[in-house]
Amino acid sequence: MISQKMDRELSKQLNKEFHSAYLYLGMSAWCAEAGFSGSAGWFMAQYQEEQEHGMKVYNYLLDQGGKVELLKIKKVKTEYKSLLACFEASLEHEMMMTTSFNELCDFAMKEKDHASYGFFQWFVEEQIEEEATVSDIISKLKMVGDKNGVFMIDNRLTGRTVTDGAQD
Ligand code: MG
Repeated sequence: MISQKMDRELSKQLNKEFHSAYLYLGMSAWCAEAGFSGSAGWFMAQYQEEQEHGMKVYNYLLDQGGKVELLKIKKVKTEYKSLLACFEASLEHEMMMTTSFNELCDFAMKEKDHASYGFFQWFVEEQIEEEATVSDIISKLKMVGDKNGVFMIDNRLTGRTVTDGAQD
């Protein structure tokens, strides 16, 4: 069992995961419209991964006898000024999600809720990977600078599948 306060925090996190999914769907749409098909596929995989994260929180809430609350999902951007700006927005978002999980860990410790603390650890690890992957793409985009280079990197992002670290 979890406390009512933890229940509420988990419902908020569930909403943040689905908001992330929505945000990545918007990025995928913009990339597709701009002709960055590799990145469009990459963000689509990200979209699916975030839904899995949301479902992980959802299932945990139910397993712990909590009350699932499905809060309103905020509107997201579907316009970016460049591929670099799009990935930078993605990194900024992931950093915010990392903060969110760190705060949840703090809260679980305060509540002496060891089960939830353990549950959040999977996400803490996942966030390290998320930030590292996006930072690497940003570095490469900054390195190339010109159009040909950007399209080359976009091409390299083709073929990502949703099983990349999402289901372990
Ligand atoms: Mg996530």
